[in-house]
Amino acid sequence: MLEKILVRDARLAENVGKKILLQGWVRTRRDSKAGFSFIEVNDGSSQGNIQVIADAELPNYETHIKSLTAGCSLAVEGEIKESGGKGQSTEVHANTVTVYGTADPDSYPLQKKRHSFEKLREWAHLRPRTNTFGAVTRIRNCVSHSIHQFFQEQDFYYIHTPIITTSDCEGAGEMFQVTTLDLDELGKRQVDKVEYKWDFFDRPSYLTVSGQLEAEIFACGMGKVYTFGPTFRAENSNTTRHLSEFWMIEPEMAFFDLNDNMDLAEKFLKRIFTDVLEKCEEDMQFINLRVDNTIIQTLQDIVSCEFKRLPYTEAVEILQGCGKEFEFPVEWGTDLQSEHERYLTEEHFNQPVILFDYPRCIKPFYMYCNDDEKTVRAMDVLVPKVGEIIGGSQREHRIDILEKRMQEQDLDLDAYWWYRDLRKYGSVPHSGFGLGLERVIQFVTAMGNIRDVIPFPRTPGNADF
Ligand code: ATP
Ligand code: MN
Repeated sequence: MLEKILVRDARLAENVGKKILLQGWVRTRRDSKAGFSFIEVNDGSSQGNIQVIADAELPNYETHIKSLTAGCSLAVEGEIKESGGKGQSTEVHANTVTVYGTADPDSYPLQKKRHSFEKLREWAHLRPRTNTFGAVTRIRNCVSHSIHQFFQEQDFYYIHTPIITTSDCEGAGEMFQVTTLDLDELGKRQVDKVEYKWDFFDRPSYLTVSGQLEAEIFACGMGKVYTFGPTFRAENSNTTRHLSEFWMIEPEMAFFDLNDNMDLAEKFLKRIFTDVLEKCEEDMQFINLRVDNTIIQTLQDIVSCEFKRLPYTEAVEILQGCGKEFEFPVEWGTDLQSEHERYLTEEHFNQPVILFDYPRCIKPFYMYCNDDEKTVRAMDVLVPKVGEIIGGSQREHRIDILEKRMQEQDLDLDAYWWYRDLRKYGSVPHSGFGLGLERVIQFVTAMGNIRDVIPFPRTPGNADF
């Protein structure tokens, strides 16, 4: 049995001399005048291809090898040799080439010419075979791994919070309803009032928008925990930074105040960027060449700088005094729009910025109220181009203030009985934040549209594949 090898490893000089089995897809093939074919093969394991040299003497040369085109799948048995060609240190000399599947060049969409990312989205079943999507996918994998490593090294427990929930984390927020009721049937019977006792959970249920409240339960008993799972938002926002289904990482820590929370968020992002630069070097070179020629430098700068920390109130002053015309006016007490966030991080500071102490009137009930009675201990981490990448806060752990805030926001206290219990029994200061995985991938890959950093994007009107 020959050793199976990945293209990534077959490209390493240290493997010269090995007799191997290689399996993958043809990127290109060309004939040499000297009576053989050069076949560029990729199997998803690296940005670079391996060049396979197939001699005209091979028994299936005329029947199969000569008609190989982009997209065909094959197996090659052969030997890794030093390559004389430019830009590669090894090549594979084939002893046998077995074709698994052909790909009709008249209909196979991924021909040599470059396609727009919009077009590639329509071919979500084939885009993993492209250079850019391969790079994005490997980087996404690296970041996911890094996230787990980071938290595990810092003694966090990975917990799983529910996907189906009957509580709405933000007290508002657009949610997808989950039901087993047959809407067609209810329509046909012209039912005008739906009884939730007919439904699966005997009450309205939804897809989660955040695992925070449940993560707080575990933090208030086990110290430091994090979730990493899918979250859903039914907002009708057709932007380049919003998905209806995305992956969120939510750490929640007992005995952490807002400063500890900001320190953790900064350390966490820097660790992700460091790992991407180190472990995805080849893919990042590709991104730097093809997508944004400043991205590697930007990430290197961020890793070695200190994030700017600024109270919301000061940010408003900067925005009001900067002389720039914004589409939305800036006023203390309103949420900052993406144009404001981007001005601060891209133009004014030109580095990541952590804004904190937001007006309490625009923030949810669970955020810790400052003594000034006007602000809460909230924080957002902003980065150039993407804007908000992390949102978090110190949580209100004082039962009287929490309940007052819930009443202010017309929430049903009984529905949150367990959340209030955490403040009645052994309440502790605690904090946490949420990082959108796709926002971070979008940032490190400099991809303009968030739909191109998730395998199968869900957005209003789009749920194909
Ligand atoms: P935004 O203001 O950008 O819409 P948000 O304030 O509604 O975001 P949070 O509820 O604070 O978002 O969610 C925490 C994090 O999850 C955000 O900082 C962001 O990284 C990510 N996120 C939020 N909504 C989306 C979305 N629709 N698609 C992708 N990522 C998202
Ligand atoms: Mn937010």
